[in-house]
Amino acid sequence: LSPVYTGLPLTVFEHMSGLARQLGAINLGQGFPDDPPPQALSDAAIRAFSTRSQQYPPMAGLPELRDGVAAFYQREQGLALTRDNVIITSGATEAVACAILAVVSPGDEVLLFAPAYDAYAPMVRRAGGTPVFVPLQPPLWQYDEARIRAAITPRTRAMIVNDPLNPAGTVASADDLAMLARLACEHDLVAICDEVWEMVRFDEQGHRSLLAEPGMEARTIKIGSAGKIFGATGWKVGWLIGAPEMAAVLAKAHQFLTFTTPPMLQWAVAEGLADPAIPRALIERWSASRLALLNGLFEADFAVTASAATWFACIDLAATGIAMDDATFADRLVREAGVATIPVSALWEGADTPTHVVRLCHCKPIATIEDALARLTRWR
Ligand code: GLN
Repeated sequence: LSPVYTGLPLTVFEHMSGLARQLGAINLGQGFPDDPPPQALSDAAIRAFSTRSQQYPPMAGLPELRDGVAAFYQREQGLALTRDNVIITSGATEAVACAILAVVSPGDEVLLFAPAYDAYAPMVRRAGGTPVFVPLQPPLWQYDEARIRAAITPRTRAMIVNDPLNPAGTVASADDLAMLARLACEHDLVAICDEVWEMVRFDEQGHRSLLAEPGMEARTIKIGSAGKIFGATGWKVGWLIGAPEMAAVLAKAHQFLTFTTPPMLQWAVAEGLADPAIPRALIERWSASRLALLNGLFEADFAVTASAATWFACIDLAATGIAMDDATFADRLVREAGVATIPVSALWEGADTPTHVVRLCHCKPIATIEDALARLTRWR
């Protein structure tokens, strides 16, 4: 057998969840709620199972869901979209893959802002491109225009912007969005915007997409996720938003990756998106768990970095006085204390990778958070 491509790493989420399962640890690593998704959503799926076709739905998604996604963004973000802007995918990770396959050609460079979700770089490489990491600086994880400008070359084709940002939980400011849009327009870049956390915000601010910035309509691919909006990560229903010409190209990538997404789940997501009370109730539940984790860490003298969104909070090990790198800390904590976390250096490449930050997931029942906090304090 001639050699096969071995450049795809094992995702840190699979690694840590595997360890948590094997060791019976509390899993605050990979991000997913333990509670079931809203009953109305499950009921809608069950109804769809008995009343709707279970054969291939249209390749770009059920027209009803594409309309529903457009109406959802009109309601939540004031975006004027139609079904022609929307392609349904089997989760946001597939949407990221579609966007990369559609945009990146061999030799292209793609800007990633580190920490960067771990799917981006391997997929850019597999498309023949080169990921170029531009670091965001902790503790505030800010965009640095000079560093971004310095990273842009004539080969730069795209930037991948994750906002709100996993793992840090920070949100790009209005100035950041304007600056990123300006750079994209100046250098003719496509912005692949992974906005899966757009509805998981605790600052009572509505999400503003890079798509809404002047000049960005034709060059933005916005990615969303029903799994994050409804706390149903196993559903794997996501979408791509783009100008109709862009959406048509993205659909062609989607047809050769998964082709379609289970119609029963698409029907249920369409119902869920139409009801603004569902995400609101979830945010209330997740706010309580988030506060339980943040307060507990604060009382136990852990230095926590500021975050306003996502299911995550990060501990700054150096500021806490723990002289251990994040990978060692995460490995020892899961084995010795029975709590799984994510070392943030796994979402980074390059010589200046910080190794003093770990990510904890807080969308868990309060009792689980308290148990994890007790283990953490005892271990320390
Ligand atoms: N998005 C999830 C997280 O950040 C991981 C999803 C996955 O493991 N593919 O925890």
